[in-house]
Amino acid sequence: MSTLITENERYHEIDLPFYRRELAFLPPHVLDFHTHTWRAIDWKINPWNQKADGANYMVTDPDYPLETLRDDGHRMFPDQAYHAVCFGNPTPSADLDRTNAYTLEASLRPGLFPLLVTGRGTLPTDRLRQKIEQENWLGYKVFLNWYGDNYAAIDIPTMLGPEEMELANEHHLVVLLHVPRSGRLNDPVVKEGVRTYAKAYPHAQIVLAHCGRCYLPDEMKGAIACLADLPNVYMDTSMVMDPQVLEMVFRTLGSERVLFATDFPVAAMRGRRVYLMDHWVDVVLPGYPPSAYRVASDDMHATFMAWEIALAIRRGAEMAGIDEAALKGVFFQNGMNVLNRVRKGQPVKALQSAWKTAPKFE
Ligand SMILES: [Zn+2]
Repeated sequence: MSTLITENERYHEIDLPFYRRELAFLPPHVLDFHTHTWRAIDWKINPWNQKADGANYMVTDPDYPLETLRDDGHRMFPDQAYHAVCFGNPTPSADLDRTNAYTLEASLRPGLFPLLVTGRGTLPTDRLRQKIEQENWLGYKVFLNWYGDNYAAIDIPTMLGPEEMELANEHHLVVLLHVPRSGRLNDPVVKEGVRTYAKAYPHAQIVLAHCGRCYLPDEMKGAIACLADLPNVYMDTSMVMDPQVLEMVFRTLGSERVLFATDFPVAAMRGRRVYLMDHWVDVVLPGYPPSAYRVASDDMHATFMAWEIALAIRRGAEMAGIDEAALKGVFFQNGMNVLNRVRKGQPVKALQSAWKTAPKFE
């Protein structure tokens, strides 16, 4: 395929016809449960500087302001009203105060629901309570206290303590958790951590990012059963593009605990996450920065990863016998049900009324 085609030509001539043909099953509203937004000034260090730890991992643009997030949402879901749960970069490279302040500001724009990046002891408990009760946060994006793909050998209570969980339980907060350890959700220490917290804090709404990081069927096969009896644990589908993985999730959890998500800016790339041997690889069109487990080629057809995620959900749902109405729920209503339970619906109501008077994007 010629690389001389412009971005705009590619969008109109290749991407959009595919979207109209293959993604017509999407409901009129979409809620993307896992997206990021950040500005270049929100970093303590540029994480993708050549000399930094983790510099070669998940490399994206150091500037991904809310306008770009909204543009990506509109471009990839042109026939839908796009809504997103969004948060800053949850790693030691980011200035947490700055990135959280920016996320809160972003949520004054229509459709964006903010999560506070925080972790065990990040804020004194009274300060955390004050922020949760006085600002419109829907919950936490749990801070990752490590760099890059040096998957930390820590347990979940090291990432998030009982104080944070008690507050989450009291207010039915979203606890969006990227599980640690190289074994992912299939690691016994991770399973134990999720099970213990889910049972001890039954009103906390624990959402496992990237389906517990089980992108491969063999990883999910050993992992999924541990969630069967935990009604307050959900999965976000960000960067999961394997139908068999999603089939297992649907068969074990049903559809209501599955939440569509992309992980923008990552899933704004054109390509697909596949697996070789025992690890995932992102196969992408040329033009993106080099990154670990990212292979670029122009010798293929490719479109947005966000759509590959949506298609994998549809295929997995079909394989598991999920009906059309339940499939639609994954893309919007399931996630809204979670958000509406937070603090008895107060933050959602407050945001929706703020959006009515918000400045327009364009
Ligand atoms: Zn993410």
